[in-house]
Amino acid sequence: MKIRTGIGYDVHQLKEGLPLWLGGIRIEHTHGLLGHSDADVLIHAICDALLGAAALGDIGQHFPDNDPSYKGIDSKVLLKRCGELIAEKGYHISNIDSIVCAQRPKLAPHLPLMRETLAQVLNIPVDDISIKATTTEHLGFEGREEGISAYASVIIYD
Ligand code: MG
Repeated sequence: MKIRTGIGYDVHQLKEGLPLWLGGIRIEHTHGLLGHSDADVLIHAICDALLGAAALGDIGQHFPDNDPSYKGIDSKVLLKRCGELIAEKGYHISNIDSIVCAQRPKLAPHLPLMRETLAQVLNIPVDDISIKATTTEHLGFEGREEGISAYASVIIYD
């Protein structure tokens, strides 16, 4: 058995009046994330971690943001595809850990549903996916509420 690790990082800008999609669920907020897809920054970080673990490139390579077929796409579709790509290479997901950095809104109450949602998309037990949230103490672009960032780390094995 070979064990492999991957990391992912993503950032999207916050804009007033857009829907906020995070971890595969819609969250009520004054602002939402701007992007070619639904801009789910957490899912994008997880996709990159999965692809990275299997040395399959990155999310921009697989789902180019100038491709009209991905315009406004539900990022859960991209995540499902990334799961299939690593399965096609013979890998299984051991576990996923992740962090969302956002000053607002408060994400703690939403984390259980995000975990359930993403576990279902990837067809893994909910205990194998961890999602954490932190503010940045009003520092940096996340702290100024200009954007939200996310980090993910995964372990896969064959
Ligand atoms: Mg992105």
